[in-house]
Amino acid sequence: MALPDWFILQSPPNLDIDVKQWKNFAWNRVKLLEQLPQGRSRVVRDHFPPTDDDSLNQIYNDYRLGAYLLRLVAATNRRLEAWLIETEGDLFEYLYSDRTTVNQKWDIFKSLFGSENVMNYEEFKYKMDEKQNEYLADLYHQFHSARGRVTSDFLTCVHFTQVPWMVSNRRGYLRKGWVVSNEISFRGSLKKAFEHKLQEEVVKAQDLLGVNESIDQAVQEIEQNLAKHTQIRSQFSSAEFEGRDLQSHPEIFPPCMIHLFSEFEKTGRLIHAHRLQIGFFLKKIGMTVDDQLHYWFEKSVDNLNVTYEEFLRTSGYQIRHLYGLEGGKKDYAVPKCSTIATSYFCPFVHLAPAILFKFLSNNYLTRYKSLTPPENRLERIVSQSGSNPTAACTEYFPIIFKKSLYRKIVHPLQWARYASKFEGLIVEQRESDSSISEEVETNQ
Ligand code: SF4
Repeated sequence: MALPDWFILQSPPNLDIDVKQWKNFAWNRVKLLEQLPQGRSRVVRDHFPPTDDDSLNQIYNDYRLGAYLLRLVAATNRRLEAWLIETEGDLFEYLYSDRTTVNQKWDIFKSLFGSENVMNYEEFKYKMDEKQNEYLADLYHQFHSARGRVTSDFLTCVHFTQVPWMVSNRRGYLRKGWVVSNEISFRGSLKKAFEHKLQEEVVKAQDLLGVNESIDQAVQEIEQNLAKHTQIRSQFSSAEFEGRDLQSHPEIFPPCMIHLFSEFEKTGRLIHAHRLQIGFFLKKIGMTVDDQLHYWFEKSVDNLNVTYEEFLRTSGYQIRHLYGLEGGKKDYAVPKCSTIATSYFCPFVHLAPAILFKFLSNNYLTRYKSLTPPENRLERIVSQSGSNPTAACTEYFPIIFKKSLYRKIVHPLQWARYASKFEGLIVEQRESDSSISEEVETNQ
């Protein structure tokens, strides 16, 4: 396979190295991952200068070694695991689109989906006896004659089991158990497959712990230092929300969560994925498992005529699961906005424009009862929402809180954190001061 050197899910480079040097490689990788939200193209360019010579391959190899050690660290700490998988997923997404040739892309498809689950267009036509399929021929023609088509894009076919989201959202042409589409439209599923594989690698990495004392010591040191890092704590930990009773302050909920919360309060029903989304969020803003069990038991219409004991055995199990108290005992994080956009519910993605407008106006009126909502600004937000939901959300924040953010909203907990601070519900911790000082009051 012609996998690119930056791709971390391949056989590890030579591990016969000095542990101290290995630790340095891991720290360089941490720096890269931590800086990523500041601008992926600049950060990647700083760490991986675009050169044609072998030195870049050496740099990639060293970073891959660092990534390998970080997997051992993640195997010891669930929170770090969640952070690592999400940020490595983002880096993968960028390097795949920016530093990968067409041949390498094919090999990444095969590596992540399995070679038996990937075919090129011609192969599909012959192997599946689709030579006479006019729709397929039309698809080929349209793809090759599309104006503004990205030249490195190509048609590909992936078995439906690998891309469930594309199947349920009817992305691509479904034929004989395969999804046929252009390479670009598979990128979201490819990223998910990467994150899934990385998670499996983290689990496997547990076997390497307890074998070599100096490696164990290096892992422990990195784990302790990483846990102190601001960005990891502020993005993915709930420590700052603990004991604040924020679940009774829906005014600090981001639009996605307030929409689901209100719908559940009104109807007593939510589909499974939406229950999970709000459940993760309530957990991370400090709701205890007992409070959440009682909340769902009392409010859900499905629990009429069900005793609390029966509820604990059925839905209660799922709630305990999301607290890491059942099953794989994983302390699940709240998904970030890009994951929510593809797999859960974001109003800026999933509501039709007229309904979104109404929802944003009503949400404004809940707070500023007698004031007229700023219709022009809301219309502008609605018009850009589908193509750039996080930008729309970031633009909506100052309308609600009369304060601007200089950081884009990329995670629901970020909205909750800024909102709680502006509402005086939490006091920023010292380590986070730098991020908050970037927000300024505006005269809206
Ligand atoms: S952009 Fe993110 S925080 Fe905002 S509504 Fe959508 S998912 Fe929620």
